[in-house]
Amino acid sequence: MRAVYPGSFDPVTNGHLDIIERAARIFDEVIVVVFKNPEKKPRFSVKERVAMLKEATAHQKNVRVDSSDGLLSDYVRKVDARIILRALRVASDFDYEFQLALMNRKLEPSVETMFMVTTAEWSFLSSSIVKEVADLGGCIEGLVPECVNERLLKKRME
Ligand code: ADP
Repeated sequence: MRAVYPGSFDPVTNGHLDIIERAARIFDEVIVVVFKNPEKKPRFSVKERVAMLKEATAHQKNVRVDSSDGLLSDYVRKVDARIILRALRVASDFDYEFQLALMNRKLEPSVETMFMVTTAEWSFLSSSIVKEVADLGGCIEGLVPECVNERLLKKRME
């Protein structure tokens, strides 16, 4: 079975990678899709986000990275997947995820959204907090893959 794991991944963190690794042990194929979220002002371009994800998941043969600027439900139909994978960290994630899942089911009734629960170690981790800390000169080593750490440092110096 093929699962689609959508998100902004701006940038990918070890929390995302943990979900991808665990999902890749369950599903035959996991397609990680970078979506252009018009509500969010991204730090990295879609191309950069895809490049970082590809580098960080290169060792996993059943993980593919892609991008889309359309509707998630259309993308899922296009790649012939049945599962949308999302993750929950804290209770405050729930409202938005619930709304998203119901909207996606309305748009594409044949697709199921499945949730994985974060590993406790990464439950405090988000792309936003990583960017905030990096901008202020804090150390984010061990929270993101090395390629992300390097790019965030480079962006800070630009
Ligand atoms: P979006 O803007 O679509 O929420 P994100 O890149 O922030 O995109 O997150 C994509 C998915 O990964 C979401 O389901 C989110 O809950 C999950 N996620 C984000 N950070 C973590 C983490 N530290 N541990 C587990 N899941 C996470």
